[in-house]
Amino acid sequence: MANGVHFRPTRAEIDSQALRHNARIARQLAGDAKLLGVIKADGYGHGMHAVAEAISAYVDAFAVAFIDEAILIRSAGFRHPIVILEGCFSAAELPICAHHNFQPVIHHQQQLDDILMLRSVRPLGVWIKVDTGMHRLGWNIDEVDAVYDALKASSNVASITMMSHFANAEKASHPLNLVQHERFLHACAVTEATINTSLETSAALLSSAMDMPHHASHWIRTGILIYGDNPVELPAELPEPLRPVMRLVAPVIAVRQIPAGDSVGYSGTWTAQRQSRIATIAIGYADGYPRHAKNGTPVWINGHEVPLVGTVSMDMITVDVTDFPDITLGDEAELWGPHLSVTRVAKHADTISYDLLTNVTARVPRIHR
Ligand SMILES: *Cc1c(COP(=O)(O)O)cnc(C)c1O
Repeated sequence: MANGVHFRPTRAEIDSQALRHNARIARQLAGDAKLLGVIKADGYGHGMHAVAEAISAYVDAFAVAFIDEAILIRSAGFRHPIVILEGCFSAAELPICAHHNFQPVIHHQQQLDDILMLRSVRPLGVWIKVDTGMHRLGWNIDEVDAVYDALKASSNVASITMMSHFANAEKASHPLNLVQHERFLHACAVTEATINTSLETSAALLSSAMDMPHHASHWIRTGILIYGDNPVELPAELPEPLRPVMRLVAPVIAVRQIPAGDSVGYSGTWTAQRQSRIATIAIGYADGYPRHAKNGTPVWINGHEVPLVGTVSMDMITVDVTDFPDITLGDEAELWGPHLSVTRVAKHADTISYDLLTNVTARVPRIHR
């Protein structure tokens, strides 16, 4: 990796056209609602700067998890408001928020006290997080009234948006969705009718089930949709398909024949039932390929899907290419991307696309196209 030169061809190709395409679709699906482009965790592992640049024309604001991520975006020159989804860890962040138009979420008493006590030059936009059933962050419904009144009365506060988060958004028919939606409406009812609200995430735009409340609020928070993955159980018909943004690629660096009855890899978790041809690919768990991917996880090579065989190593994986004699040394394998959805791969590793995308490690160069 010296001087930015990479001899190993393993890489994550990032397609900025696909980012724009997906952002345009999100824009279309959102109708009159505003879009919050969620670019926390280095743009879900795609490179925050490149993502911000590609989607900046389509979103009304950005969202990140904490202030350090917001500072990176601001330093790169983007002028959008930036919502800080976890809120502040300490009062020391508030003057920086005020200065840079970062809009912190307020979800507990200390954060509320801090903002009320602030001697700020410029009033802040703030987001009130309501716990409607996820039980991770937010005020209880019966606390919202007082929180809203206190913030409304403060000269430090420029605007207030009410928000909540679904615990089961990707399962549109899950009964808790409707319960959370109703609780959210109830919480908002103690404020003014004109209050801005934010409830839905990517899943709401991507679900087909009618019992999922559809963009009822003013701001839709879109993360995974922008990156071209559709994690919902019953996907809606989209105006155009999403385009996967990341293509994770690695070369075949060895091919060998093994006899029936021999095992492959650490602990011999896969045994050949017939004489087999095994290809070794230069990517492993130290690159972010999931170590728990099971035998049979698909890998795409030359238009074929071949199964992972044996345990994932730190730097390599092995696949069974017996049925495809055209696969040879130097061929490029796609671990996920346009030919192989990251959600499919994730299912074979008992996880979700978000986990795989955000865990591609720093030793894999991001190649932006
Ligand atoms: C990460 C995050 C999102 C983005 O969700 P997607 O499913 O990727 O659209 C939205 N809201 C909150 C509070 C988040 O933490």
